[in-house]
Amino acid sequence: MIPPGETIGILGGGQLGRMLAMAAAQLGYRAHVFSPEADAIAAEVCGDFTMAAWDDTAALRRFAADCAVVTYEFENVPVAPLAALGAVKLMPGVRALEIAQDRLAEKRFVTELGGSPAPFLAVASRDDLSHAILTIGTPGILKTRRDGYDGKGQWRIMTPADAEALDADVFDRELVYEGFIDFRAEFSVLLCRGADGDLRFWDTPENVHEGGILARSTVPGGALVQGEVNAARSLARKVAVALDYVGVLCLEFFATKAGPIFNEMAPRVHNSGHWTIEGAITSQFENHIRAICGLPLGETTLAARGVKMNNLIGDAAHDWAAILSDPSNHLHLYGKAAARPGRKMGHVTRLVLK
Ligand code: AMP
Repeated sequence: MIPPGETIGILGGGQLGRMLAMAAAQLGYRAHVFSPEADAIAAEVCGDFTMAAWDDTAALRRFAADCAVVTYEFENVPVAPLAALGAVKLMPGVRALEIAQDRLAEKRFVTELGGSPAPFLAVASRDDLSHAILTIGTPGILKTRRDGYDGKGQWRIMTPADAEALDADVFDRELVYEGFIDFRAEFSVLLCRGADGDLRFWDTPENVHEGGILARSTVPGGALVQGEVNAARSLARKVAVALDYVGVLCLEFFATKAGPIFNEMAPRVHNSGHWTIEGAITSQFENHIRAICGLPLGETTLAARGVKMNNLIGDAAHDWAAILSDPSNHLHLYGKAAARPGRKMGHVTRLVLK
């Protein structure tokens, strides 16, 4: 067990790091954030901040010397420089990062565990894409294997002509083509696994994405989602056990007539779990800190009859007073200076109490 008073290292300085640092503080830990970005919003709520490049191994070594454990809020942290953390434990581990950083590795991994992703094929050239389209058909989505998030690095292929129209530089990166899933709903399985193997699930949010970005989560999900939760949880549990995972893990699924189709996994706290801050007995952030510090996990059951979480995205003006004039609403603002289209600025959680 890591005793309160020690320092938890957080790789990444966005809103997830900010909320992790706040949960760490609640339990008496210091947080030290490592981020390449000068305006890292997590830095405002932590004890120490290192601004350095991901591959600055000297900075990583100094950072590790200050930390009792290191975690990450961002799965695209380059893996090789993390060797500089030396004996300081990274939780969740490097294997979870390696798999989640590569859509192809991720799909192969869950397939081996008995999960069902959309039909997929690796693509490294225009010819590969033609072959994938012949095999899988259209519509489909061409995605970058690495560094894609919030719908970035994706090209929808409705007909073979869309593939022919793609610029040559699209094929400069490693890609994967996947069949388009005619889903009825989207949902995510959120779990936390403790250092002792204790594994708990939160209720399953039904998620709506707009333009590839999560717009809102509703708990409990609809009947179709509820019917697919057990199968999805069974896969998520296998993933967590296979990786000897410690911390919060999220797997996203499409609910279809044929059962849950795995979309992707995040080896970290997740936007579709923000509702747990007020909507569950213990939030995803608190349980993540408890898990990586070797503490017992908190109860994950609902703290209300239902919960709705709405993301505040982009530069739309909001009337904060109007949002807060409804006492069921909880407003979270991330303190980002510049609003840009598609940027997550905050979220509102609404508890359904009666
Ligand atoms: P991703 O970044 O892969 O999670 O994709 C973002 C969103 O795009 C998903 O949540 C879906 O709404 C949509 N999407 C991604 N892949 C597919 C697919 N194979 N079929 C249908 N919709 C998809």
